[in-house]
Amino acid sequence: MSRPRIVVVGAGFGGLHTVRHLERRIPNGAADIALVAPNDYMLYSPLLPQVASGLLTPQSVAMSVHRLMKKTRFVPGYAVGVDTQDHTVVVRRPTGELAPVPYDRLVLAPGGLTREFDIPGLTEHAYGAKTLAEAVLLRDHVLGQLELANDSKDPIEREERCRFVVVGGGYTGVETAASLMRLCQEAAHLYPELRSVIRWHLVDIAPKVLPELGDRLGRKALNLLRNLGIEVKLKVTVREVTADKVVLTDGRALPCRTLIWTAGVSPSPLMETLGKPTMRGRLEVGADLSVPGEPDVFAIGDAAAVPNLSSAESAYCPPTAQYASRQAATVAQNVVNSILGRPLREFKHKDMGLVVDLSGSDALARIMQFDLSGLPALGVTRGYHVMSVPSTTARARIIANWGIRAVTGGEVARMGFADEGRPSSFVANEKVDYLDAESARKAGARLRENEEDRYGD
Ligand SMILES: Cc1cc2nc3c(=O)[nH]c(=O)nc-3n(C[C@H](O)[C@H](O)[C@H](O)COP(=O)(O)OP(=O)(O)OC[C@H]3O[C@@H](n4cnc5c(N)ncnc54)[C@H](O)[C@@H]3O)c2cc1C
Repeated sequence: MSRPRIVVVGAGFGGLHTVRHLERRIPNGAADIALVAPNDYMLYSPLLPQVASGLLTPQSVAMSVHRLMKKTRFVPGYAVGVDTQDHTVVVRRPTGELAPVPYDRLVLAPGGLTREFDIPGLTEHAYGAKTLAEAVLLRDHVLGQLELANDSKDPIEREERCRFVVVGGGYTGVETAASLMRLCQEAAHLYPELRSVIRWHLVDIAPKVLPELGDRLGRKALNLLRNLGIEVKLKVTVREVTADKVVLTDGRALPCRTLIWTAGVSPSPLMETLGKPTMRGRLEVGADLSVPGEPDVFAIGDAAAVPNLSSAESAYCPPTAQYASRQAATVAQNVVNSILGRPLREFKHKDMGLVVDLSGSDALARIMQFDLSGLPALGVTRGYHVMSVPSTTARARIIANWGIRAVTGGEVARMGFADEGRPSSFVANEKVDYLDAESARKAGARLRENEEDRYGD
């Protein structure tokens, strides 16, 4: 192979870190590296709830890939199919056209989407909290509801607009509910009549919130949420959603115009299109992160089922940023080893713990089995995020935003993104049309032919 073509799909924790490790390991000009992703930024999703509450600007958590990569070509678009026979990724460009991207080694790291459930009304009415656009939209929507409620004399409309239901007791749901509750408290200074009407609910089918934190910290999280004024309801979920109510499985009907759905992530549908074994949609890979039977294709992150060699409790690595970033280092090394014909390494990582920012000065952290709460946890949580963002510019922006907020307080003006006519449901926001293996093969062959006609061999 003269100049191997390495294609990485996805610019998140897995994909972007893979590219950066490859750039460090491969001498200048020794390989062509391409990164395929729909957006030209890496989203630092653990801080998204702080964007939803307006504590951080969207730019602080969206790091330009062009600034972070030195020798990699950026291909804008979604990978919608993979022709593994002819080693081609089919990319749908932002213009809607399909384009072929040939590879010698492929790393798939497309992450996941908000998980849908077969609940009447969910796909039409539920808001997501997973993408940057959703976080910005959510803030606008919540503030818009308060404004409209304040302007209404109808007590029923006021109640519906001032009630917010978050589904999911994991870190996304807990942090989103806590941050947006604080945003509402800040906004309520402007709307004193609404103070007693604003209600936040957090519901989960599980018997506890944040099970990853263990029993003691989990109970603490529950108390902190309740002290903040969030009504937490466990062992229930949503039975039905309409434009003006949420019906729970215990029969309670909550008059409400905002359901925020954070109940899990489903792996990118791209993984199923390969026609290879998957585990609940995650593409199965070996401990060396390669796809069995496809030695040139690797997969990591939330969309891959990676054997967890360091844990006796879970067979597969959890879908977290921590694991995706660590897998990136191993996969980059293995791509290089496979090109050089060297043996591949197995991925092993011991979980470091979890940090949860409940906004204000409340935080919880479990680091290497040490439990922290209060200010020490807040210090560790914020320090961890600052160290983990891969860009000095973003680091500076985040610290500056926290500093400005501490001095000036919060800002509660809407930006106008949640106005009529814009898609709000997470399904409309995150939808992409994928190709199955056969269609990808046909599209790949047709596209390669067109390219040859255009440019010659
Ligand atoms: C609100 C929130 C809070 C979180 N908090 C934490 C936390 O505190 N700690 C923690 O460890 N984890 C946290 N996570 C989880 C963490 O963000 C994920 O586990 C991590 O992002 C997974 O990395 P990834 O590379 O697999 O996917 P992602 O980081 O999601 O990256 C996927 C990339 O692929 C791109 N993409 C998607 N489809 C395609 C396609 N078809 N073609 C090309 N590109 C595509 C996306 O645009 C994106 O660039 C949180 C997640 C959310 C949403």
